[in-house]
Formats: sequence, C-alpha cells, structure tokens
Amino acid sequence: MGSASSNKNFTVTIVGGGIGGLTLAVGLLRRNLSVRIFEAASAFTEIGLGLSIGPAAHRAMPLIDPQIREIYDSLVTTHADSPGYESYAQTWFEVVWASGVHEGDLLMNLKALPSGQTTLRRANFLEALVNLIPPDIVQFDKRLEKLEETADGVNLYFDDGTMAIADVVVGCDGIKSKVKEFMLPEESKTKQPQYSGMYGYRAVFDMDEMVQAVGDQRARVSTMYIGDGAYGISYPIMRAQKVNVGLYILNDTWDCDTWVRPAKKEDMLLDASKMGRYWKSLVEHMPDPSQWAVFEHPALSTYSRSRVAILGDAAHASTPHQGAGAGQAIEDALVLAELFGDSTVRSVSDVKAAFKAYDDVRRPRSQRVATSSKEGAYLLCLCLDGVGDNVEKLKEAFQERLRWLWDLDVQAHIDEAKHKMAEHMRP
Ligand SMILES: Cc1cc2nc3c(=O)[nH]c(=O)nc-3n(C[C@H](O)[C@H](O)[C@H](O)COP(=O)(O)OP(=O)(O)OC[C@H]3O[C@@H](n4cnc5c(N)ncnc54)[C@H](O)[C@@H]3O)c2cc1C
Repeated sequence: MGSASSNKNFTVTIVGGGIGGLTLAVGLLRRNLSVRIFEAASAFTEIGLGLSIGPAAHRAMPLIDPQIREIYDSLVTTHADSPGYESYAQTWFEVVWASGVHEGDLLMNLKALPSGQTTLRRANFLEALVNLIPPDIVQFDKRLEKLEETADGVNLYFDDGTMAIADVVVGCDGIKSKVKEFMLPEESKTKQPQYSGMYGYRAVFDMDEMVQAVGDQRARVSTMYIGDGAYGISYPIMRAQKVNVGLYILNDTWDCDTWVRPAKKEDMLLDASKMGRYWKSLVEHMPDPSQWAVFEHPALSTYSRSRVAILGDAAHASTPHQGAGAGQAIEDALVLAELFGDSTVRSVSDVKAAFKAYDDVRRPRSQRVATSSKEGAYLLCLCLDGVGDNVEKLKEAFQERLRWLWDLDVQAHIDEAKHKMAEHMRP
C-alpha cells in the first residue's frame, strides 16, 4: 500500500480517479506522500468530450507538478492550430449575437491572457495523467458504498463486499459523492444534485462539417452564441480537426429520472425557433437530438470533517457555463497537496488542521464560482438582472466575472491556506 517514503505517518486514501482525484494523487506523490486510490470503474475513463481550462487553473498546474502543465500544454488545441487564425492566439471566445436585431454581429472578442483558448479532449488528458500514477497504488472496481469513522481511522466498505481501513480520506467521487453523504449525513438528506433549469444538446463535429454549417471563422474561432433564452458554444479540439458544440436552453422543467433523455429532431428545431441562422444550421447538422440536463449541487456547509474531506465535483459540482469545474478541482488539488506537503504536517491530527484550512480557503472561492457560473447562463441568455441585452453592460459583465475567476494570485491562495493551517494547529 502507498507509494513513497516520507516523514509523514499517514497514507492518503483517495476515492475516485477523475481529473480531481488524479491531479491530487500526482501532487501528493510529488511531495513524497503515501497515496492509494479506489476507483469504481474498471479503468480510468472520461465520458465527457472537450475541456477548456482557464488561466488560474493553468497557473496552478505546474505548482502541483510541472509534468501536469507539460502534458496539458502538449495536448491543447489553440486558435493557432488553424492556419490563418494566429491573430486569435489570445482570444478565449468571440461572443456573437445569435438572434435579434444584431444577429450574426460580434459583441466582443473575449481574451484570456496570455494563453488564449486552450482546449483538449478530456480522455487524452486523463490518459496522460494516468501515466504519472504508479499502477500498484490503484484499485479498480471498488465502488464505495459506505464510510464510517472510528477512533483509529476510517472504514471504507465497497459494493463487492470488501472493506479497507484508511488514515485519512479525500472523496473525489464526483457530483453523486458517497463520501459527501457519509461526511454530512444530515445535510445530504436535503442537499442532492438538482436540475439547474437548463438542458442542452451536445456533439463533436468534424471541422469540415462545422465549416459547412457556420462558415470558416465561426468554426475555427471559439464562439459563444448569445440569444434570447438560449445560448450556444463551440470550440475547436484535436488540433482543429474537430469542434466541440453545445446548445443550451433555459427550461424550468425536467420531468425525467435520468440526466439524458432521447428527443427528436423536431424538439431541437422547436428549441432553435427563436434563435438565428447559426443555431438553426448547427441543429440541422446535430447528429443526436438527445437532451442533456444540466445539474448542479446546492452549496455545502463544509468540505471537511475530522479525517475526511471532499474535492472537485464531490464538493462543489456546478453548471458548466463558465467552463470552470475541472479548473476548480485542479485548484483544490493544489491547495491540498501544498498543505499536506508542508513540513509541519506529520500526523493525522495535523491533517485535520490541513483539512480545516483547505475548507477555509477553497469553499468560499469554489462556491462563488458555482454562483457565478449559474448567473453566467442568464448572462449568455440575455436575461441576467441589471444586464439583459444591454451591449455595454454585457461587455462589462463578461470581463468582470472572468477577471475575478482568472486573476487569482495562486501563490497567495496557498499562503493563505498555510496561514490558516498554522492557526488551526495552535493548541
Ligand atoms: C457539459 C459539461 C462541460 C464542462 N466543461 C468544462 C470545461 O470546459 N472546463 C472545466 O474546467 N470544467 C468543465 N466541466 C466540469 C468538469 O467536467 C467537472 O467539474 C470535472 O470533471 C470534475 O472532476 P472530478 O474529478 O471532481 O469528478 P468526476 O470527473 O466526476 O470523477 C469522479 C470519479 O469518481 C469515481 N466514482 C464515483 N463514485 C464512486 C464511488 N462511490 N466509489 C469510487 N469511485 C467513484 C468515478 O468513476 C470517477 O472516476 C464541464 C461539465 C459538463 C457537464
């Protein structure tokens, strides 16, 4: 068990090996901590399609482990991958009116400095992260069913009838986290993942088809299509060979137990009826009319209790409208890895202080990101209070939100967490 020798007298048990669990594991291994991972699936997998990481999480990567940033940078697609579009190197998205009197016009060129839009295929990123993890620290087909804290540790019970004993546990087990349920049993009764009031259609287009649907510039430059009660998003992936497309519609009801439901082409056309030519053309080319509900998790009162903490979507699953969920998991992983790697953290009782400090700094930020992401949907659908479809206010609101999200001083964030940890360690 474990992976490395260190001056710490505990092993960190991670439940769930998605982007959050794996980046945390890599960060802990780099700091010579002993780690093991229990994953429910029989291999590490990503079902999502494209992924875009914002500047703050991008700056966090090398501080977790320089190899993570190297991997990310080697896999990303940028606008410069489309010959002739090098001048969009710093563009994050172009925001384009999808409907109304401005239909087809550019609202703004939203920049992300210095790297511009960087996107990748999730599966490629996960596969590369897996290569940084020694296989002997991972156990697959271990779906956590129950977790129980005892005087000496934490008992983990899996659905195959086996159990394990852990010193400390970090639940990285996604939006339906079991770790969260057992860490916060009372709160979990009322706080469950909930429909956010929006569903969408998603697809990956071949670049040629995308060009046919919306023209060269719109296909090759990442675009947000803003409209009345709906919005669309597209960005090139896989060295601009493919384009990731999502069309999202505000709709109060989701009368279905599952998160994906079959739909017909007519449903898509109806949803596109108020939108302009870009949307209609994208809908014509969409291969699959399935509707994907956008879920979110209500804000939790804490991300840690005693020897147990939660990270990533397990702690703060949010809507995807700012493209920030995985970035938040990466920021979580950095703070926790830095706290655990600190020379003052030697025992389980130090870990408890580290978990408290992690909660102190990560909960306010990630919960604000979740709120801002939800509001981002209204902004993109031209119905955010006080902004609506006012051109100047829209521009200001986009800049302001992203500046807050991206301008994080990552090192100061870590320092603040360490300062809090020292306070929690004081007798
Ligand atoms: C449509 C969409 C687009 C998005 N786009 C972006 C984007 O562009 N940029 C961005 O930053 N974020 C984006 N996000 C958010 C991002 O996908 C998530 O925030 C991120 O993947 C969360 O990672 P995670 O490791 O916390 O959880 P997950 O990826 O959900 O991983 C959880 C892991 O835990 C395992 N597991 C689950 N239950 C158990 C159990 N009981 N026992 C053991 N193992 C278990 C799972 O098998 C899985 O491997 C998007 C989300 C959506 C829905």
